[in-house]
Amino acid sequence: MADTQLTDDQTDALREWIEAGSRLRTLTHEAKQVERLEALRALASQHGELQAEVSRLAGVQAEHEAAAQDAEKRADDLREHVHRTETRLNDGTGLTSRDLMGLQDEIAGLRARIDEIEGEQVEQLEAAETAAAQKDETAGRAEEVAGRGRTLQAERASEGQRLAEDIAKVDGTRAALLERIPASLHGRLRGGGEYPPAAVVTSGSCGACGAQLSGMLADIYRNLGPGGLLECDGCGTLLLKLA
Ligand SMILES: [Zn+2]
Repeated sequence: MADTQLTDDQTDALREWIEAGSRLRTLTHEAKQVERLEALRALASQHGELQAEVSRLAGVQAEHEAAAQDAEKRADDLREHVHRTETRLNDGTGLTSRDLMGLQDEIAGLRARIDEIEGEQVEQLEAAETAAAQKDETAGRAEEVAGRGRTLQAERASEGQRLAEDIAKVDGTRAALLERIPASLHGRLRGGGEYPPAAVVTSGSCGACGAQLSGMLADIYRNLGPGGLLECDGCGTLLLKLA
């Protein structure tokens, strides 16, 4: 490569092509939108947790409602029992005064039990209401998180589109610049790899891999005129000497 010497225009074109390559790498990295993706994943996970909590609270609410219904049914059965006993008591046929007192005691016991069960029913209904309120509040938070996710998703889409347009523009610029660079270099400039295919030397180091030029290479580089080329002995990148 040391024998390849670019004209001023070719040198300008390759320098701009290298600079555009650097912009392209930045844009390509930005296009991944790593931070937004991570934020979206975090929101999705948060939403999942809140949804699971909504389901759990719906289960708690249903349990308390079922317990309240059960209490109501038990109270109804006991009220029916009281009614039958009162009927017997009022009829009084064949009952001794001891029987009457026994029935009165039984009714009093049943009424006390009904009061207790009604208390249980109220407690269960209150617990169901509490669970329902917590469920609604959690569902509201889940919806808020989903809304933030939708906003972020929309931002990601529009930013992705903007970056794709910018990348297409830089690609176009580079294709035009390539036309002004000798065809013999096109093959290696189009080649992919870990490092950019061409770079300039910055403070004695390869602009692609960052390695310091070896003593011999640094000597060759010093002796090159502007537009001279050599290869980094670290990464093989084409190095362009500028004025
Ligand atoms: Zn290098």
